[in-house]
Amino acid sequence: MSTSAIARTAEIEALLGVLRQDGIHDEAVLRALADIPRELFVAPPFASRAWENVALPISKGQTISQPYIVALMTQALQLNDRMKVLEVGTGSGYQAAILARLARRVYTLERHKPLLREAEERFRTLGLHTISTLHADGGLGWKAQAPFDRIIVTASAQDVPPVLVDQLAIGGIMVVPVGEVSHTQILLRVMRTPTGIDVTELMPVRFVPMLAGTEEF
Ligand code: SAH
Repeated sequence: MSTSAIARTAEIEALLGVLRQDGIHDEAVLRALADIPRELFVAPPFASRAWENVALPISKGQTISQPYIVALMTQALQLNDRMKVLEVGTGSGYQAAILARLARRVYTLERHKPLLREAEERFRTLGLHTISTLHADGGLGWKAQAPFDRIIVTASAQDVPPVLVDQLAIGGIMVVPVGEVSHTQILLRVMRTPTGIDVTELMPVRFVPMLAGTEEF
């Protein structure tokens, strides 16, 4: 291994150590984080910081979440390789790439066309062929592909979106940040039951807002 490859491996190991200490115990999730090269997903000036446990800029004023939050949300989904997952808010594509390592099929929606095109390019580069993408308002879900075993929302909603609950299988789990941007948002784990939903609060978080409609540029 080259010196830089050794340094990179050490950075990854250090990050995994931090995540374990913070309660990420699902080894499959940790392996997925170690396997997906986060430096390919952040804005180039930040590539050298890709393995720090911090949120970083992508483009269009959006951010890639802190690795801890990605790990926590992924762990809360309790994925396996038979599952179909919907993501709202593709952004850089990083979370979708992690999901693709753990689930059978990933459907991801993004309202900013240029962001989606960049993410699609990364999926091609990495040979992630089980991710389907769509330029659309994720608030409407992806009806043609419903129901989903799991749904992950990576922008903050005002409340648990009823449209997405409708597209979740019975027994399915959705992880969604809810709340006003400038106020406290809380990450929720929502399970659909035969009669309604069971909601568990996971932790306070800070996400960009979920916005209606789409952007072409
Ligand atoms: N999951 C991303 C980070 C998401 S940042 C990653 O791993 O990099 C939140 C993303 O949600 C932004 O790209 C934003 O454009 C998108 N977004 C916000 N509201 C949306 C909506 N209604 N439908 C689809 N995408 C939305």
